Amino acid sequence: MSDRIPLIAANWKMNFTISEALKFVTSFIHELKAIGEAEVVIAPPATALYSTGIALSETGFKLAAQNMYWEDNGAYTGEISGPFIKDLGCEYVIIGHSERRKIFGETNDMISKKVASALRNDLVPILCIGETLEEHENNKTWEICEFQLKTALSNISLKNIDNFVIAYEPIWAIGTGKTATPAQANEVHAMVRNWLSKIYDVTVAQRTRILYGGSAKAGNSRELLSQKDIDGLLVGGASLNPLEFANIIRNIPVEKVNH
Ligand code: PEP
Repeated sequence: MSDRIPLIAANWKMNFTISEALKFVTSFIHELKAIGEAEVVIAPPATALYSTGIALSETGFKLAAQNMYWEDNGAYTGEISGPFIKDLGCEYVIIGHSERRKIFGETNDMISKKVASALRNDLVPILCIGETLEEHENNKTWEICEFQLKTALSNISLKNIDNFVIAYEPIWAIGTGKTATPAQANEVHAMVRNWLSKIYDVTVAQRTRILYGGSAKAGNSRELLSQKDIDGLLVGGASLNPLEFANIIRNIPVEKVNH
C-alpha cells in the first residue's frame, strides 16, 4: 500500500462568478463533512480566488490557481505571478493544462519556467501532461509524455522536487466524455513513476502523486482511483456540480484514505 495521500482537484476553468463560486462552496461543504485522509483542492477562476479562499478557510479544502506567469512582477500586463497567487492563499497551481498549450500557445519551455517559478514561490505545481488523439492512435503516448516531463522538469533538481504533482490528462479524454480505461491510465502513470525513479530516485517516484484527468466523474472515479498508480483526479466538468464532485471524493477507495 502506498503512503501517498489521495488528491482530488477541481478545475473550474472559466466558470463561476464570485457569487456562483460561493454558492458552490456552501453546498459542497454541506455535502461533504468528512473526507478521511484525502486532500481536496479547488481551482476557481482568478477573479474568484480570493473569495473562494476565504470561504474555504476553515474547511481544510485547499485553493489552487489555474495558471500563473513565470516572472514575479514587472511590465507584464494582464498576468498574475506566483507571489500574487500565494498572497491570495493558493497552495497549488495548475501548470501546462492542455487548453493553455493549445489555445494560448504555451510551449514546453514556457511551462518549464512556470514550474520553476511555482517552486520558487512555494506553490505546489500540478503539471499537466498528455497526448492528442492522433498521437494516441499512433502509439506516441509515452514519447509525448516523456518529452513534456523532460522539458518541464529540466531545471528542477532533486532537492526541489519534494512536493510536486503530475496530472496525466489525455487530451482526447478532456471534456469529451471519453475516458481512458483505468488500465490504460494506470499504465501511463506507472511509466511516469518509473521515469521519476530513473531521473530522480525511487523515493521521489514513490512520493510523487500522479493524478488522472479526462472526463472523470462519480460514475467512473472509484474504478480509476482503485488503480495502483492513480493517486487522485483532476476534474473539469464534473467539478462544477457540488454533489457530483462530493461523490467523486466519496468514491476514493477506503484502503487509499485509511492507509
Ligand atoms: C480538465 O480540464 O482538466 C479536465 C479533466 O476536464 P474534464 O474533466 O471536463 O474532462
